[in-house]
Amino acid sequence: MDCGAETAELHKRASLPRNMIENSMFEEEPDVVDLAKDSTTFPALDPDEVTYEPRSSRLLVRGLGENDMDDDEEDCESSARLLGMSFMNRSSAHRSNSSPYTRQAPPRSCSRPSSRTIVVCVLFLVIVASVTMVFYFLPGCTFTKAGCHKPNKTNPIEPVYPISTNGELFPWAQLRLPQSIKPLSYDLTLNPDLDKMTFTGRTVISMSILHSTNRIVFHGANLNITKATFKASDVTILEYKPRQQLAVNFSEELKAGQYCVLTMEYSANFSNAYDGFYKSFYIDKDRNKRVLAATQFEPLSARKAFPCFDEPAFKATFLIKISRKKTYMTLSNMPKAKSTNLSNGLVQDEFEKTSVNMSTYLVAFIVADFTPNTKNVSETQVSVYSVPEKNGHTEYALTITSKLLEFYNNFFDINYPLKKLDLVAIPDFLAGAMENLGLITFRETTLLVGKESSLLEKQVVASVIAHELAHQWFGNLVTMTWWNDLWLNEGFATYMEYMSLQEVSPDLETGNLFLSVRFRALDKDALNSSHAVSTDVNTTEQVEEMFDSVSYEKGASILLMLNASFPGDQQFRKGIIEYLKQFSGLNTDTDDLWNSLTQVLSTHHMNVSQMMTSWTSQKGFPLVTVNLMGNQVTLAQEHFLLTSDNTTHTSSLWHIPVTYVNDSCSLAPECRQVFTLKNKSDTFKLSENVTWLKLNYKNTGFYIVDYGKDGWSALAQALFSNVGVLTHEDRASLIHNIFALSRLGRVSFLQVINLLKYVSADTETSPVTEALLQLNNIYRQLEKRQESNLASRMKNFIMSTFRNLTAKQTWEEEENVSKQELRSALLEMACNLNDENCTQQATSLFKKYMESNGTLRIPGDLQQTVFTVAGRSDETWDALFNIYVHATYDSEKRKMLKGLASTQNPQRLVQILSFGLRGSLIQTQELPLVISTMCQSFAGCLFAWDFIQENWDRLIEKFPIGSFAIQAIIKSVTSQSSTQAQLNKVQAFFSGLKERGSQMRSVQEALETIKLNQRWMDRNLPTLQKWL
Ligand SMILES: [Zn+2]
Repeated sequence: MDCGAETAELHKRASLPRNMIENSMFEEEPDVVDLAKDSTTFPALDPDEVTYEPRSSRLLVRGLGENDMDDDEEDCESSARLLGMSFMNRSSAHRSNSSPYTRQAPPRSCSRPSSRTIVVCVLFLVIVASVTMVFYFLPGCTFTKAGCHKPNKTNPIEPVYPISTNGELFPWAQLRLPQSIKPLSYDLTLNPDLDKMTFTGRTVISMSILHSTNRIVFHGANLNITKATFKASDVTILEYKPRQQLAVNFSEELKAGQYCVLTMEYSANFSNAYDGFYKSFYIDKDRNKRVLAATQFEPLSARKAFPCFDEPAFKATFLIKISRKKTYMTLSNMPKAKSTNLSNGLVQDEFEKTSVNMSTYLVAFIVADFTPNTKNVSETQVSVYSVPEKNGHTEYALTITSKLLEFYNNFFDINYPLKKLDLVAIPDFLAGAMENLGLITFRETTLLVGKESSLLEKQVVASVIAHELAHQWFGNLVTMTWWNDLWLNEGFATYMEYMSLQEVSPDLETGNLFLSVRFRALDKDALNSSHAVSTDVNTTEQVEEMFDSVSYEKGASILLMLNASFPGDQQFRKGIIEYLKQFSGLNTDTDDLWNSLTQVLSTHHMNVSQMMTSWTSQKGFPLVTVNLMGNQVTLAQEHFLLTSDNTTHTSSLWHIPVTYVNDSCSLAPECRQVFTLKNKSDTFKLSENVTWLKLNYKNTGFYIVDYGKDGWSALAQALFSNVGVLTHEDRASLIHNIFALSRLGRVSFLQVINLLKYVSADTETSPVTEALLQLNNIYRQLEKRQESNLASRMKNFIMSTFRNLTAKQTWEEEENVSKQELRSALLEMACNLNDENCTQQATSLFKKYMESNGTLRIPGDLQQTVFTVAGRSDETWDALFNIYVHATYDSEKRKMLKGLASTQNPQRLVQILSFGLRGSLIQTQELPLVISTMCQSFAGCLFAWDFIQENWDRLIEKFPIGSFAIQAIIKSVTSQSSTQAQLNKVQAFFSGLKERGSQMRSVQEALETIKLNQRWMDRNLPTLQKWL
């Protein structure tokens, strides 16, 4: 999946947030069963009971996982439950009656424990801890490897089962499904009714029994199952809503080695959100409302469209049939096999059975009235679909997809497996795009471009297509076993997106973009709230949270670093071909990748597995300190950890392929030398004395470098004398690193300024945009502290630093992408800082655009600047809003929306937010974009913050807790705060949310960021006062 650039292109799921479902469940049903009383109905344990969820004994014994109990009570209670002790029946009179957990909550034994109870509890905890440790170290089993080892049947732990909706015991108590049954194939029949917003379905699942068991446990959410049969007899489907699980209990064991078939008929409503099987609409050119239905299943929503084993490791084949009215068409993963007229006047389309095994999250189908633009590429028919009137905007996507498909077929040495590949632009879609096998879905912005669109707009489309196409191999062919290794999908697809386009379409110059996303990944990963690339995932919220820059951009960065450690691209390529071939059609974890690459790539200098495990198993990255004495170089590493209290130190060590160039040879790739730093520190000798060293050549390594006071001034001096002494990537890397070190407190702000002295002579995109971004961030913080005097002096500094370069920019069409990037950054900055010349030019261009009635084209890279200036002016806001409402071309529309959200007018700000929330005139999917734009200004951000607090519950209905959209919203509204008062407000609001989001990683990140901003301001305000 592509979560999109900026903030807003996010996938959205869950018609009801999980916590709401859980709460309503708690009110109706007991969450714990008295085992002593219910032992007769208690299902027998089987091997599945003790696999997975290794984190703690609590998870093994708690039916509901995360319910609210005090920690100390909880441990005792767990032990008591384990024992099935009769004292569970004691009353708990003191529990608050207002608690939603009250009605059927378990009586608690340990509220006033006797000493004997304490001894029993403690003893039992010791036993539980020991047993848990044992299972923790048992290898997890999957279908893809050597198979499951039968766990120890004598395990004394008996889980506490929750209660199904019908009052019976639900025979499973974990988030992950049991491993005893493997689905082999699904036969799906779907009958969507786009008028009534409902659908019915029939799902036939053929499965194989791997271990003898008394139950089948799988997923289903919001499905009303009307009939279920197993071996020609009716069976009852049990449902446990909080985990979206379904089950069938059998009195007789299903024996290992058997094959069997479960058939279910059901009905359901279309999802109101953007996940599951959801209904959507668009307004056509004649202002008619056109309805369509589409799917978005990753990560946890296939279960909302059909009952299934909804985990990535349960791969199977799919045969899909969908009925439709004659005026519609349908699409699914596979080519259409046949169409049949039904007696009710509808047509049923049947698709070929999938030729490869695939995970449920990759299933997709669409019912709409789209039209295709088609081309054959080797063995595959490629089609780009859109609403009929935008079909003229599909040509570029078709051309670049064809080139990329040929590139990947050749690069991976494995052909794309299907006869067809459809790319579909969906008018109402939250994610940037979704890589469903054979049927890739996109936002219109990420697939459609007009012939006259600028290369910068084409760059967006090409990047997203390159990403989703790479997933057809990384993700679809070889899939991560569980969401903890999401980076195997997303890191690879992100890396391949840049790598493939550098080959296929070098004119798009994606290098600058990749460099800047690596900087942002470093910034996020420096925080204490970050996580390892491969990390534990035990709740649905944690699954959502994996879609973040660590999985995507850090994943891509460490692959780049690995590739750059070898001379040439071919060795790395050989390694990944080997990996793809070895695991084709299977599921893997991170170790499989490193083991596979180790076989092909390791040399006596480098063990790939050892090196790369140090980057995927630990959070954060190293700070490399370099000390140069004549020709002797000393390197040291430590964890680059930004903490507000400076107390946390870690002993993390990385295997770092440190690259370096020096003053006598610094530009060509041949100048680059490598030293692998594995220890805390190490020393080596250069062949000659040098004046300076620049480490991390072209910033291909995922680390930050501190050169020490002398080292920094030598580099600053060298650049001041001659900008061209380093590559533009190296200059950008120095700028990024010195600001990061200033945040860490390792360099003074005067050293930062000393380096920046050279910048006014720089004309390349990446160093200039990086410096702009860093300075702008300080300016925004000053503005939000209402240090108006300092803010205006900072503004003057920024303007004067870039005055010459800004003055050189034109307002005509510009061909070169990197010049477009530079120009749009400079002019946006100048106009945002109210540079008179800039705002006049932009205003006059907007007036001409209005007068031309849309026939005059504003160059694509200047549109944002022009629309923002128009949106900030009370005179032109209404005109812009009018154009926005009638505009059809999504990428222009989004720029207009950003312009509209830049207004400082309170009424208009409130208006935009409420339109967005209602989804009228402004689509709800755009709210994260609206909020991030508003938060660029002091006043706008105040309104956005109020809005978020007032509408939190509605927001998490639209954007699931932990999702990329929610992450982006929290970041936008907090990242430029730096005062104690702001910190207190943010802290108070989020801690008050409790289970409605207070535990999110992004909340921790926000609080840390504010504290770090506060610390930086405290330290540097005096310097700023003096120096500005
Ligand atoms: Zn992706």
